[in-house]
Amino acid sequence: MAQLSDDCFAFGGALLPLDDAQARVAALHACVAGREEVALEAATGRILAADFIAPIDLPPQTNSAVDGYAVTHADLLADRPTLLPLFGRTAAGHAPAGPVPRGHASRIFTGAVMPEGPDTVMMQEDCEATDAGVVVQPGIRRGANRRPAGEDVARGAMALPGGRRLMPPDIGLLAALGMGRVTVRTPLRVALFSTGDEIIDPPAPLAPGRVYDANRFMLAALLRRLGASVLDGGILPDDRRATQEALAAAAGRADLMLTSGGVSTGEEDHVRAAIAAAGSLAFWRVAIKPGRPVALGEVAGTPLLGLPGNPVAALVTFAALGRPLLDRLAGAVYAPPSRFAVASGFAYRKKAGRREYVRVQIGADGIARRYPKEGAGIITSLTESDALMELPEDMTELAPGDVAPCIPMGLLHG
Ligand code: AMP
Ligand code: MG
Repeated sequence: MAQLSDDCFAFGGALLPLDDAQARVAALHACVAGREEVALEAATGRILAADFIAPIDLPPQTNSAVDGYAVTHADLLADRPTLLPLFGRTAAGHAPAGPVPRGHASRIFTGAVMPEGPDTVMMQEDCEATDAGVVVQPGIRRGANRRPAGEDVARGAMALPGGRRLMPPDIGLLAALGMGRVTVRTPLRVALFSTGDEIIDPPAPLAPGRVYDANRFMLAALLRRLGASVLDGGILPDDRRATQEALAAAAGRADLMLTSGGVSTGEEDHVRAAIAAAGSLAFWRVAIKPGRPVALGEVAGTPLLGLPGNPVAALVTFAALGRPLLDRLAGAVYAPPSRFAVASGFAYRKKAGRREYVRVQIGADGIARRYPKEGAGIITSLTESDALMELPEDMTELAPGDVAPCIPMGLLHG
């Protein structure tokens, strides 16, 4: 077996705490992505290259939030209804009527620009239209039902921070601020490999001893949702030299290399040795379950993350280490997924010194129940669970009724 780098032996094979592994990812890597302008229609999932400063007020003009009557608050009697003769009518998208003389009400509709004069809008449901004018009830607050210009975002304010991965509401906000195009980071090029002599691509006929590749398809889907462009490296055989050559060949063409499988300590696990031979390793054992064998290194200056082969472990370690690494390289600000406190409906024992992620289903009663099949190869535990319950390193026992942080499954995907 090839000589592993000194760095790797610095841990003496000990398990690296997840926080330390994440700190290493952050310390070792910075943004390598460029910038490009794309149409808003193509910007979902892309990373905003710089703080976005609002070029206009939103809303652009003060307007009505309801269908009703624009009035001047000071004209209203405090203790009884007020009859106001009508002056003008303003519909959305049309020039405002006005200026409205004092003592009058002006018909107005949702989204219409407020005419000059009135400062408050009465909902039509609270008014009575008569031949002499409109009768309005007392008690409304000055400025009610009026949406001031810039109330949502003021011109010159930072509307979205640089490094943000654009989600559908962000696209809506950019459009509302008049943008047709937006400057984003160029997609990170990620070379993606599976490993293992038993792995084959669907839909080839299933030969004895073979299993279809789940990880490459799952990880490619994850990467694409995160705005990366995937370079398909295919399936590598369980052979150190072939693995080493494939990684070295991909190194110059990708910003990041991602493998799954072959990072354990079995005789047929060649990825770690291949990284050590072709480049260097920063760590290869992390105190996390599922997932313990996960390797961070580089080959010819290109960072490489070696995920474990079991699909559940591959997804969990991708979320814990792959996502922060990808975000860092791609110019995105990494934000750990939100955790929600949920009461456990089960007892659980764990080893001290490692972080565990337990797949749970959360019932209508709000109680988390453990997914019944626990193997790290059970793919349906990913498709059928609601969340990962996060149990910290120092915990050894969870009792029913204990509250623990849970990460909704969907937050691992995008
Ligand atoms: P390894 O980490 O290579 O020892 O793999 C651990 C387990 O995960 C083995 O049962 C492999 O067959 C399985 N496995 C590895 N890679 C994949 C993959 N790409 N898709 C589905 N299962 C895999
Ligand atoms: Mg393998």
